[in-house]
Amino acid sequence: MNKPLRVMKFGGTSVGDASCIARVAQILKEAARENSVVAVVSAMSGVTNRLIEAAKRSEAGEREHAETIFKDLRKQHEAALAVLIQDGEKRRQVAARLEKTFADGERLCQGTALLREVTPRALDAISSLGERLSAPMVAGALSETGAPAESVDATELIVTDSNHGGADPLMDRTRDRSEARLRPLLREGVVPVVTGFIGATRDGVLTTLGRGGSDYSATILGAALGADEVIIWTDVDGVLTADPRLVPEARTIPEISYREATELAYFGAKVLHPKTLRAVEQAGIPVWIRNTFAPEHKGTKITPKGRSNGGGVKALTAIRDVALITVGGPGIVGVPDVVGRTFSTTALVHANVLLISQSSSQNDICFIVAAADAKRTVKALRNEFAQDVAHEKVEHITIDPNIAIVAVVGENMQGTPGVAGRTFSALGRENVNIIAIAQGSSESNISYVVAEKDMKTALAATHREFGLSGRSYLETVAASS
Ligand code: ASP
Ligand code: MG
Repeated sequence: MNKPLRVMKFGGTSVGDASCIARVAQILKEAARENSVVAVVSAMSGVTNRLIEAAKRSEAGEREHAETIFKDLRKQHEAALAVLIQDGEKRRQVAARLEKTFADGERLCQGTALLREVTPRALDAISSLGERLSAPMVAGALSETGAPAESVDATELIVTDSNHGGADPLMDRTRDRSEARLRPLLREGVVPVVTGFIGATRDGVLTTLGRGGSDYSATILGAALGADEVIIWTDVDGVLTADPRLVPEARTIPEISYREATELAYFGAKVLHPKTLRAVEQAGIPVWIRNTFAPEHKGTKITPKGRSNGGGVKALTAIRDVALITVGGPGIVGVPDVVGRTFSTTALVHANVLLISQSSSQNDICFIVAAADAKRTVKALRNEFAQDVAHEKVEHITIDPNIAIVAVVGENMQGTPGVAGRTFSALGRENVNIIAIAQGSSESNISYVVAEKDMKTALAATHREFGLSGRSYLETVAASS
């Protein structure tokens, strides 16, 4: 009989040190009793950042700094290995493999230092090292528990386009390669431990799928192999109704739809890489988010349709590191193409626009960009509109960094009247001033902008209004007074 196939991905904190990796090995071993299991692993937490720093330092010619980083990384991995694998011969094998990867990395950094340039291709090669270090360690730790395992480089499986730093898979080829390489292992009950985050072009040039891309690796492999489920093991209990640091009553959502999860991923709830669900959309494979550190919790199941919770609103998310830019004044009614020129300008400076709002009076266009893009954007806009400002057609181009966006997310808001009304009444009761509002026509996200100082109050009020903590409004009020 065919066992169900589960792809299990473990993030950086889940493989953060020896004791975490040992925990992962236990989870895998147990799962492998009743399932065919493919493991996908991230680099140990922090490692990818350090590798990118080594690349940048090398580019700046600071060779010694890069060497120090490699020295630290060697220490970190060797220490974990010493704890994880007792058998001397096995440990030497894994250590030799790690050493080869370190040597590759040092060579790449030396080359970079000589050229004083880090190409996108070299940056991918350097930042991929963390996964190429963690996968053999996890495979080794799993064998140590008695479960057969083999570390597999995803460059052998995931065939991508050549968009370095954000590659996408070519699924037909990926399917063929994954079948050919992984299916025989699975048939023999071996757990393949695959490097997350990376792939290779048709010509075998290494690529990465973008920061946090191991989630995407897992769903790509899940889709390629026709898995029954993909499980993303991380360090939180699933997808929560809100950030628990801001809303203490937040709780885990048992089931949400692909669309809702994607909406949340874009809006700052950093549970999933934004492209993760794309890979499984067609096959409709369920994706679980579970906590490595609390495996007794069921976590969140993400399915094509989700499950309705009645009210339509599923979760809230807030983004803080953003700024509101306004281009305006009554005069802009007469300036043709202000909208077009505004957003051509944001495109020109590669500013990521998160929200746009314009009232029909056309007196103001306001939009939100990441804080890091804000200064650059305003400068470019002042340039673009210099003439119009001089003639007082455009009266102001202003920036307000002290704001936050709150997004109210839920697929069933579509056609549920009153969600916006209830949201804004709840904010009114708390005296929270709303600076701007946007709702896409998909109606699965209503976003509003408030002063940063009001964000927490706004979140709490909205969370309460829609009963997201699972208790009724009155019970919540009683409990908090
Ligand atoms: N290690 C990579 C990163 O830090 C990929 C991942 O963790 O998913 O971005
Ligand atoms: Mg990660």
